[in-house]
Amino acid sequence: MSMHRVPPTPENFSVWFNYAMGASSALKKTIDILIANKRKFDPAINHELYVNYIEPQSDRSTTNGFPEQLHGVISSAKEFLSSAISDNRTQIESLGEVSLQFQTASDPQPIIEKLVEELSNATTRASGLEANFVKASEELDKIGDSLKLAELHSNTDVLTGLANRRSLEAFLRTAQIAAMETGDPLSILMIDIDHFKTFNDSFGHQVGDQVLRLVAKVLQENVRSGDLAARYGGEELMAVLPGASLDKCTDVAERVRRRISEARLTRRATGEEISSITVSIGVAQFRLGESAEALVERCDRALYQAKRSGRNRTVPENVEGVIAA
Ligand code: GH3
Ligand code: MG
Ligand code: MG
Repeated sequence: MSMHRVPPTPENFSVWFNYAMGASSALKKTIDILIANKRKFDPAINHELYVNYIEPQSDRSTTNGFPEQLHGVISSAKEFLSSAISDNRTQIESLGEVSLQFQTASDPQPIIEKLVEELSNATTRASGLEANFVKASEELDKIGDSLKLAELHSNTDVLTGLANRRSLEAFLRTAQIAAMETGDPLSILMIDIDHFKTFNDSFGHQVGDQVLRLVAKVLQENVRSGDLAARYGGEELMAVLPGASLDKCTDVAERVRRRISEARLTRRATGEEISSITVSIGVAQFRLGESAEALVERCDRALYQAKRSGRNRTVPENVEGVIAA
């Protein structure tokens, strides 16, 4: 650990202890690739290794930071349950008394009345408890829904509905680790709308927003379910394609570019046709052990080449393979 300047924290210790013991071949393979590529073991990588290989699954559940509200509902549910149990016990005891009296009594009438009364009390208590349980479980459902919604919002870009930058970064980190583990390729593409500033100036920012949504929709429709389409920032979108080689990712990029350039845009209010829009796309493939920043930077350079060589085109990181419109 000291050789690789890994601080001796408990998390790092458990990662490197497991590495040294060879407990996980996947962990060993990933660390060996990182070492071979002279990657710096910065806090982000160290934590990622811990989360991916050491942390028990149960620690990753949503119980961390569960809203106070949820604890409230759970504790009232427990209270209802214990009161149901104690009521039930009292009821059984009193029914036991009635049955004792029944064996000795000559007139069954008062005993039957007592039985009916006990049963009616029990029914009332049972309905009360049932109502409380129904209410508590409805509240639990509501909390569950709002937790899901909150999670979705924290990972989603509001304008385009794509993944936001935060979830893009997390997805990319996990995809990199998986690619190192499996040796499968991993590629990314970065899209930038051509002359978007002029477009906004001519048609207004709101029409511009709709165009951004359209580009996002085309991107989303052209990636597979295991891929991630995200808004990188402003008018730049990105897709991460685990398992895709540079060529495969370039094909996807080309399809997206073509679809966008073929889209006919009209103003809903007037039916007037708006000048067509185009995008430029850069593509890059992950090199084992490199950082996410290095990969994105190469993709960005390819995108810059696409702009420089005339826009409305896809450029894979190796500039020779320019695909012109
Ligand atoms: P280039 O072809 O070189 O990419 O030219 P460009 O005009 O697209 O590039 P530039 O980076 O100069 O301008 C980006 C524009 O994107 C500026 C900004 O108004 C617009 N933009 C960024 N985010 C949004 C957004 O959320 N909505 C809208 N409507 N426009 C946006
Ligand atoms: Mg831009
Ligand atoms: Mg642009």
